[in-house]
Amino acid sequence: ATPMSVMVGVGKAAEAGVLIRNGEALQTASKISAMILDKTGTITLGAPKVTDVLVAGEHDEQAVLRLAATLESGSEHPLAMAIVESAQERGIEMGKVSNFNAIAGHGVQADVDGKTLLFGNEKLMRERTIELGDFVEKAQALAAEAKTPMYFAVDNKLAAIIAVADPIKEDSIAAIKRLQHNGIRVVMLTGDNRATAKAVAEKAGIKEFFAEVLPEEKSKKVQELQMEGEVVGMTGDGINDAPALAIANVGFAIGTGTDVAIESADITLMRGSLHGLADAIAVSKATLRNIK
Ligand code: ADP
Ligand code: MG
Repeated sequence: ATPMSVMVGVGKAAEAGVLIRNGEALQTASKISAMILDKTGTITLGAPKVTDVLVAGEHDEQAVLRLAATLESGSEHPLAMAIVESAQERGIEMGKVSNFNAIAGHGVQADVDGKTLLFGNEKLMRERTIELGDFVEKAQALAAEAKTPMYFAVDNKLAAIIAVADPIKEDSIAAIKRLQHNGIRVVMLTGDNRATAKAVAEKAGIKEFFAEVLPEEKSKKVQELQMEGEVVGMTGDGINDAPALAIANVGFAIGTGTDVAIESADITLMRGSLHGLADAIAVSKATLRNIK
């Protein structure tokens, strides 16, 4: 495309809230054959809320939430924010944390009130040989409702499952349909567990998804699709997504996402809506048509 037509295209996209950082990305966008979408904060609002607290044995719900929220006050993960907010809403006062440790893609651990706390996914609990009993089925039932269940252990014994829900953005389903109508293979990628991912993908109208993807594995998924011959678009909002955004043929960042994601991407969707993807592709196609 001529520099002039690219400039016009960049301007048109900007009117739709799609910020294009380089002309090359604008030209490649029309060739995207597969679009990878991160789940949390990209397809969903990224603002999870606590929906269920299921305590084990004699544990008290308020006491469990206090410990869990105290532990999570050291984490910046969206799931952590949900736990802390939920405790605050109930007027629970936080305790003191020591030996805090975040286990990427798995959960968090720390000491509170002389107790050893562990909070995270099933894999983390299995690795630490925490007995889960019939709470596995309870977690599965919550996951089937598209909620994310997390296991909470106190002194190496299961104390509760706390589940959060993160609703799909109102217009994600329609925006995903637009991509599919363009013949684009839409793939969802998430660190979340398989059952939750399946439920969210179904709601969003996505047939293909990869779950339990560790942060460092996200960019590998982009490469895998590229090796299958796809021209890959990647859309994400998190620090986790940055390497994948950088390696994709075209990286799209959600405007409300982290700075690292925005800096790693070629295009920023300022309105946070996935409609920006089909908009960018349409502008790209129009730009290339103009030069012929
Ligand atoms: P996502 O792609 O959903 O942001 P992550 O890779 O960050 O996923 O985390 C994967 C899983 O690890 C989460 O779904 C959750 O079960 C667990 N996890 C991660 N961080 C935390 C945390 N701070 N507290 C509890 N669980 C966590
Ligand atoms: Mg995300």
